[in-house]
Amino acid sequence: MAGARAPWMLENFIDGKFLPCNSYLDSYDPSTGDVYCRVPNSGKEEIEAAVEAARAAFPGWSSRSPQERSQVLNRLADLLEESLEELAQAESKDQGKTITLARTMDIPRSVQNFRFFASSILHHTSECTQVDHQGCLHYTVRTPVGIAGLISPWNLPLYLLTWKIAPAIAAGNTVIAKPSELTSVTAWMMCKLLEKAGVPPGVVNIVFGTGPGAGEALVSHPEVPLISFTGSQPTAERITQLSAPHCKKLSLELGGKNPAIVFEDANLEECVPTTVRSSFANQGEICLCTSRIFVQRSIYTEFLKRFVEATRMWKVGIPSDPSANMGALISKAHLEKVRSYIKKARMEGAQILCGEGVDKLNLPPKNQGGYFMLPTVITDIKDESCCMKEEIFGPVTCVVPFDSEEEVIQRANSVKYGLAATVWSGNVGRVHRVAKKLQSGLVWTNCWLIRELNLPFGGMKSSGVGREGAKDSYEFFTEVKTITVKH
Ligand code: NAD
Repeated sequence: MAGARAPWMLENFIDGKFLPCNSYLDSYDPSTGDVYCRVPNSGKEEIEAAVEAARAAFPGWSSRSPQERSQVLNRLADLLEESLEELAQAESKDQGKTITLARTMDIPRSVQNFRFFASSILHHTSECTQVDHQGCLHYTVRTPVGIAGLISPWNLPLYLLTWKIAPAIAAGNTVIAKPSELTSVTAWMMCKLLEKAGVPPGVVNIVFGTGPGAGEALVSHPEVPLISFTGSQPTAERITQLSAPHCKKLSLELGGKNPAIVFEDANLEECVPTTVRSSFANQGEICLCTSRIFVQRSIYTEFLKRFVEATRMWKVGIPSDPSANMGALISKAHLEKVRSYIKKARMEGAQILCGEGVDKLNLPPKNQGGYFMLPTVITDIKDESCCMKEEIFGPVTCVVPFDSEEEVIQRANSVKYGLAATVWSGNVGRVHRVAKKLQSGLVWTNCWLIRELNLPFGGMKSSGVGREGAKDSYEFFTEVKTITVKH
């Protein structure tokens, strides 16, 4: 029992040292509801110390060559890879995700983030233009911005944190990162590897705590000129307000209400299992998860039958069970929020075809207090319903019919978000046409979540500002200057 053992105590990592904090927050194991770890509840004082360390480390780190920085990133990637199993176990326990997902996606991708930016930083070139009638040569240089403030969410803890730390330090910045207070463990474990990897003290500082506490202190600090944030749209609004007086550079990766569009010529053998996965992977707690499925009317009944059957096969189990497809949701409050959407749908007259309130969830006695729910499929729901408009961020998806291509594009675009979409059709022309018209930063056709890290990642409309990727992250984490030489 977790209660029998003293909870794990995390510490901030500032200037290459682990430092205790005056106050701590409880962190819960989502599969039992027990407190198993305590996280520093940092504020202005800890952020100030981290700024001091990052400021002192900046001249040395930023003047190293990209090759030297690249070697450090590669060493860190190797060390993370050596600890893959330990990190995967910790991520699964802390977040509630299945051990299989942590082993095959979260931690391998965190390793890959460092390897990817270790390589890409070596291949950037700057621009140069000879303008004869001016007698001038114009060229650009890029320099690191300074101290980067990095704020990440709880759904893919180490994966998203390293997706920010790697490009920031590769480009020569020093960083202060604040992971989500709900999932801080793997970031703390990574700190133990930094010295061995050759990351100098002060280059990577990790300050744990809440958004209003440590997060706002970081965003408001006048010596942090850049904030890279991944999280929800309301938090992005607050961060934008706090950054405005300082004209900070902002990258905002936010939520989605992602449509899947299934045309009558779709290959259902592939579409159904992939759309079950895109709806429910990581308990539906991925910003790219599908939550509105539009199916052409001629195949609607057949699709729905197959989709509900496949959803019922999706196993909800304890996170450490390697055969589980889904683990526990992140917190009690989040579970209640997700359930409240299903209640609202029911009150509006929608049908719940499987999952919450319909099927029975079997859990071992010690997990009865955990934050589990079954994957849930809603139908007979109007586009105006909050379940079709708002980000639920849980294992809930709505399936509705459509008639024409034009109509479905308009309906898919009718929400405030624009992050990701999938299009299922065997017609190549239609696939290109529809993908181009969707208001969405990412469109996957006849597949989902196949990533090419070189290319831009990010959302339109309320799903974000800016893009991340090889070139995009490099441009964000550097300042460009144009120099003119008259000859
Ligand atoms: P959140 O906005 O509540 O928190 C995200 C981070 O911001 C946390 O570290 C939190 O402590 C911090 N924070 C909260 N309030 C703050 C404040 N006032 N000032 C500074 N920092 C503050 O989001 P969440 O619930 O952790 O994550 C879920 C959200 O993240 C969903 O909306 C999801 O779609 C989104 N997300 C987006 C992407 C993407 O790449 N677009 C990826 C993953 C998650």
